[in-house]
Amino acid sequence: MALSIQLTRLGYTVILFEKEQYPFHKVCGEYISIESWDFLQELGVDLPAMDVSHITRLQVSAPNGKMLEQDLPLGGFGISRYVLDHRLAMIARSSGVTIEENTKVNDISFDGSGFTIATSKKNYRSG
Ligand SMILES: Cc1cc2nc3c(=O)[nH]c(=O)nc-3n(C[C@H](O)[C@H](O)[C@H](O)COP(=O)(O)OP(=O)(O)OC[C@H]3O[C@@H](n4cnc5c(N)ncnc54)[C@H](O)[C@@H]3O)c2cc1C
Repeated sequence: MALSIQLTRLGYTVILFEKEQYPFHKVCGEYISIESWDFLQELGVDLPAMDVSHITRLQVSAPNGKMLEQDLPLGGFGISRYVLDHRLAMIARSSGVTIEENTKVNDISFDGSGFTIATSKKNYRSG
C-alpha cells in the first residue's frame, strides 16, 4: 500500500489488487519501530493525531511465570493494524491509486512486451 502511494506520486498509474475489502483485520503484533515514524508521516499518516502509544520496554513471559525484560533503546509505537491499513487505503485512493477490492490475482505472465494479470474478475494488461 505504501509503495502504491509512492509510485502514484511519482506519476505512475497504479492499480492495487486486494482479495479482501478494506477495512479488514490482519494478525499483527501492532508494534512499529520508531525508524518508520517519518516515513509514515511523509505518506500522510498523521501519527500524533492518532495518539499512538510509545513503547520503550520489551517483556517476554513464559507459562511458568518467568519473565525476560529488556529496554528498547530505539523503541517504537503501538498502532491498530486495522486503523493503519484503513488510513493507508484512504491516502492511496486520494493520491490516485485505483484499489480493486474483492479481486484475487490468479496469475501474472510476461510475453516479452508486457504483463497480463489474470484476476478473479477480469484480465488486466500492463505495458
Ligand atoms: C503474525 C504476524 C505479526 C506481525 N507483527 C508485526 C509487527 O508487530 N510489526 C511489524 O512491523 N510487522 C509485523 N509483521 C510483519 C508485517 O505484517 C509485514 O511485514 C507486512 O504486512 C508486509 O506488508 P505487505 O504489504 O508486503 O504484505 P501484506 O500486508 O500481507 O499485504 C498483502 C495483501 O495482499 C492480499 N493478497 C494476498 N494474496 C492475494 C492475491 N492472490 N490476490 C489479491 N490480493 C492478495 C492480502 O489479503 C493482503 O492484504 C507481522 C507479521 C505476522 C504474520
